[in-house]
Amino acid sequence: MNLIEVMERFPDQESCIDHLERVRWRGTPVCPHCGSITVKRKKEDGVGRVGRYNCHDCKASFKVTHGTVFHGTKIELQKWFLAISLILNAKKGLSSYQLQRDLDLNQKTAWFILTRIRAEMVNKTNPIVLQGIIEADETYIGGKPRKENKKEDRKPAKRGRGTSKTTVIGAVERGGEVVAQVVENLTGRTVLQFIRKIVNIKESELMTDEYHGYRQFAAMMKHEVINHQEQYVEGDKHTNTIEGFWSLLKRAWYGQHHHYSVGYTPLYVAERCYVYNNCNRKCILTKFLNESMKV
Ligand SMILES: [Zn+2]
Repeated sequence: MNLIEVMERFPDQESCIDHLERVRWRGTPVCPHCGSITVKRKKEDGVGRVGRYNCHDCKASFKVTHGTVFHGTKIELQKWFLAISLILNAKKGLSSYQLQRDLDLNQKTAWFILTRIRAEMVNKTNPIVLQGIIEADETYIGGKPRKENKKEDRKPAKRGRGTSKTTVIGAVERGGEVVAQVVENLTGRTVLQFIRKIVNIKESELMTDEYHGYRQFAAMMKHEVINHQEQYVEGDKHTNTIEGFWSLLKRAWYGQHHHYSVGYTPLYVAERCYVYNNCNRKCILTKFLNESMKV
């Protein structure tokens, strides 16, 4: 759905609530506190009150958004739906400043919405198992250091393995999905744990560069090593797919992060994976909403 379609389909708070109720309850509202279905919708007075229910058993009140990504929000759901669409359609990433301008929000609210949506992408992503030809690689991301890190600035900038930037390890199935995550310490062990968790080793072939952490895989599966000192592509022996993903990740990172914040890197990486893995889906907003209503 593009933004116009989102606005037509969800013109107001009521239509957004209706949609979420249908997805979550399928016609029978359930109290999230006690599980009772003896509940009654309250009378409305103002946007914040739309869709509030009273439970006759435990006397609590609740909304369809209880315990979800939209929990407790005072921002209109239409703005949330638009924000989700904007993020999912932003191939090069979306900054909170851009979101602030697009949806007429204040900066803090835009940042809050972005962070919650990113966290939801981490929480609700189904475990992915890659199979077939798998390219694995690592990269290092980070932006301008904060002022208090000036000492760091004076050190000569290192590149590649051994930098003070955040290390991200990733694997992609050719023609399929990508999985990437931040690792604190890149070692043979972290590489092994990562690949074992997300790759069907028996049914796959691994392509990597010559980093020694990957050598152990030769004993477990078919493993091709591309020596980047010599050449980048040798027939179908290459890691161009994962490198393509890294360049999308970095372009988005450097394009929108004016302040470097290590704490948010995992959320950020998860967002880029989610967008990459769903980019061919027709209605990614609907998928996101369906997932977010599974509590
Ligand atoms: Zn109840």
